[in-house]
Amino acid sequence: MNKETLLKELSKVNYPGLDKSILEMKIVDDLSIDENGKSEITLSMQNDEAFAVLESQLNDLFAGRVKVVRKSAAKKSIHYGNTANPNNRAPYAKKIVAVTSGKGGVGKSTVSVNLAVALAQKGFSVGLLDADVYGPNIPRMTSTAHEKLQWDENDKIIPSENFGIKIMSVGLTTPAADTPLVWRSSVAVSALIQFLEDVAWGALDFLVIDMPPGTGDIQLTMAQELPITAGVIVTTPQPVALDDVSRAIMMFKDIGVPIGGLVENMSYFIAPDTKKRYDIFGLGGGEKTAKKYAIPFLGKIPLDMQIREFSDDGTPAVAMGDKLQKGYYKNIVENLLKEIGE
Ligand code: ADP
Repeated sequence: MNKETLLKELSKVNYPGLDKSILEMKIVDDLSIDENGKSEITLSMQNDEAFAVLESQLNDLFAGRVKVVRKSAAKKSIHYGNTANPNNRAPYAKKIVAVTSGKGGVGKSTVSVNLAVALAQKGFSVGLLDADVYGPNIPRMTSTAHEKLQWDENDKIIPSENFGIKIMSVGLTTPAADTPLVWRSSVAVSALIQFLEDVAWGALDFLVIDMPPGTGDIQLTMAQELPITAGVIVTTPQPVALDDVSRAIMMFKDIGVPIGGLVENMSYFIAPDTKKRYDIFGLGGGEKTAKKYAIPFLGKIPLDMQIREFSDDGTPAVAMGDKLQKGYYKNIVENLLKEIGE
C-alpha cells in the first residue's frame, strides 16, 4: 500500500462521535512505509476511549497490515493544528469562558448566566453568548426574551443588555420560544460565527459562552475558531451525569482547551422547614471526578427551589438572591479568576 492510498483510506475515518475525519482533526502525527511495504500510523491522542475505538477500527480497515501507534499529545506543543492555534473570531474579548456540560438539564445555562452577572458585578465588561442551539434559554433567564433583533448603522446586531451584561442568543432568531431550531451542526456553527463576528459587542473583558451540552461538532468548531481561555464544566453529582461529564473533560483535553474547572450543581438539598440536608444525587461525586482528571474544583451549588424560580423568572440568583445564594456563584467566580490568573 502506498502513502496516497493510505491517506485516502484515512480521510474516510472519522474521530469517534464526530463527523470530522481524523485527518481534518490533525491527529495523524506520522505515517511511514518502509522498504518492505510495512506501514505505521502514529496517532496523537490523549483520550484512551477514543484511541481504543480508532485502533480497532483501523485494524479492521487495514486487516492488521498497518501498525497503529499512539503518541501522547501532551508531549507535543502543537498537537491539533487548528485547536492548538485557533482563529480568533472575537478579538474584542480579552478572555473567553466556555461553559459546557456532559448532558442537558444539569444547570449549565443557569451557571452561565450567574457567572456572567457575577463577573459584571466585579466591574468587568461582560458579554454572554447563548450558543446552546438545543435549548437556548438565556433570553428567558435574563428577561430579554421579548426583545427583537436590532441592527446598528454599521449593520451589526445590537446585543440585549440586562443585569450589567450584554446578551445574544440563538433563541432570539426564532419567532416563538416553542419553535425548535432544527439545524444541522454546520448551520448552527455558521450562525454562531455570525454572532461572534456580526454583533456589536464592544470591548469585553469576558465573553462567556453557554455551549451546547455534550461533545460534538459545535464544541470542536468553537475551539478552532476561538482562543478559549477556560472551559467550565457543569455537572450534577450522580454517576450517570459524571460518566457524561468525563467525556466532555476528555474532549476538552484532547482538543487542547484549557479547563478552568468543574462546578457541581444541585449538590444537596436543605429542607426549608426542618433544615435537614439531603444528598439527593449522592455525595462528593464532582470533587472525585475533578480529582480523577486533575482539574480544579470550582465549587458547589445546592438544589434550591428559589434558584429555580429566579432562573425561570429571568432574575439571576446572583443579582436578586439572598447572601447565601449570591455566595455560591461569587465563590465559583473567585476560584475561576484565580485559575486564570486574574
Ligand atoms: P442546562 O443548561 O444544563 O440544560 P438549565 O440551566 O436550563 O440546565 O437548568 C435546568 C433547570 O434546573 C432549570 O429549570 C433551572 O432553573 C433549574 N436549576 C438549575 N440550577 C438549579 C439549582 N441549583 N437549584 C434548583 N434548580 C436549578
